[in-house]
Amino acid sequence: MLFKYEVESNERECLIDITKYLYDAIKKAKVKNGIAIIYCPHTTAAITINENADPSVREDIIKFLSYLIPKDFNYKHLEGNSDAHIKSSLVGCSEVIIIEDGKPILGTWQSLFFAEFDGPRRRKVYIKIIEG
Ligand code: ZN
Repeated sequence: MLFKYEVESNERECLIDITKYLYDAIKKAKVKNGIAIIYCPHTTAAITINENADPSVREDIIKFLSYLIPKDFNYKHLEGNSDAHIKSSLVGCSEVIIIEDGKPILGTWQSLFFAEFDGPRRRKVYIKIIEG
């Protein structure tokens, strides 16, 4: 089953916790065991899994990506958001999570994040649940 969700960012770059959407999709799909594919159909955003206990981890990820990939550089892309495109490719636009006994297998400190690199804006996230 395929589920579609919307994510709204209010900063240019941020990590938004979307773990609740994963739980919602698994519940609606009524699947006990299988996999979930979380996919973002955007070229300047991404999906990632990381720590949610200490919010400074999220800030450090954004900060260090910006250090590696500065907004201002001699890029060719005229839209002015090449840094966001590069970050999207590096982080990746999808994740796969195992579902066991009706729950996603996530570590104690892990959460699922939508990574916004060119906000603020409204985005889409797809979650495909496959039984097996
Ligand atoms: Zn662009």
